[in-house]
Amino acid sequence: MEQRVIKIAAIFMVLFMAVTCVVLFYLPGFHEKMVAAQEQTMSQEDAGMHMDMVEIGSTDGAAEEEITFSQQLRITLPDGVTQEQVSIQDQYVTQTVDIMFPGAGTDYLYHSPIIGRSDHIDNLTFESEGGQGVIEITLDKVFEVQPTFLDGYLYLDFIPLHDIYDKVVVIDAGHGGNMPGATIGGQCEKDIDLAIVLQLKQIFEENPDSRIGVYYTRVDDTNPSFEDRVGLANKSDADLFISVHNNSTVSGKTSSVNGTAVMYDELKEDNGHGTKELAQICVDEVSGALGSRNRGIINGNEIYIIRNSEVPVALIEVGFMTNATELQNLSSPEYQRQTAQGIYNAIMRAFQEGF
Ligand SMILES: [Zn+2]
Repeated sequence: MEQRVIKIAAIFMVLFMAVTCVVLFYLPGFHEKMVAAQEQTMSQEDAGMHMDMVEIGSTDGAAEEEITFSQQLRITLPDGVTQEQVSIQDQYVTQTVDIMFPGAGTDYLYHSPIIGRSDHIDNLTFESEGGQGVIEITLDKVFEVQPTFLDGYLYLDFIPLHDIYDKVVVIDAGHGGNMPGATIGGQCEKDIDLAIVLQLKQIFEENPDSRIGVYYTRVDDTNPSFEDRVGLANKSDADLFISVHNNSTVSGKTSSVNGTAVMYDELKEDNGHGTKELAQICVDEVSGALGSRNRGIINGNEIYIIRNSEVPVALIEVGFMTNATELQNLSSPEYQRQTAQGIYNAIMRAFQEGF
């Protein structure tokens, strides 16, 4: 098993290379080996900020090679590998991009150095398994990857989301995987939360708007960490971060308590568009769409994803699973669709109101 997976340790610390650029400046010998070329316009102050023309892989002779591409990363494809054989997966939640292609043995990097000029690459690894090469790039923010295939090279550009969209919204379905949330009457909260989010996804797809980019922390029965959930919102500089949950009484016993509530960060009220205003829009629109009791907005700073959100955040508690009628409603696709419509309306209204 270990023999099949070879990690090239030398390329692990691209970020370190960038950060230590200033230090390396004073160590000319080492510097020349690690940095293939350096833009003449780059000031010493900038040196610590840029991964400028860093070469990963072979260091022999390539320093003299004239490199004139403008994209952020250049990957040499193995001989004969076509565009159709290359698979690129952008995993937004972890800000990792996997590039998979055949014909890459464990010595691939020695013949095919990767040239980078991006200051957004935190880490880069290469693995080879049975000739299938996987380059994994970890970025410092959420980007859309734009590939260009030319003359045996794959060039990659990392496009900030707000260069593509006017507005970015991140949607989070609560819980997932081995964290079911409340489980009442055989119903798991994670499934109801996800069903609502998938209905919302469908509404966005039925109403395409090229100005709005929508990203999801999960669209299946997985359980991203809290850090990854709020990280997706923060690292995409989202305009809105909406988390979908359902409520239950503290005892977990069936009761008459029912209705929709929205949590916000009471400690971030004064930061421009406070989350209180967003929470109010959400609770009004969702309870309005459902005809459920409007329980108003609730302080939620103790909730990790609310407290750590650097963007306007609202956590919607759609209904009470401990209420028999509401649980029955929440389990039905029609009610889930109505909920999604309410959330969609809230998002559109929030954008109209300047979020
Ligand atoms: Zn929950």
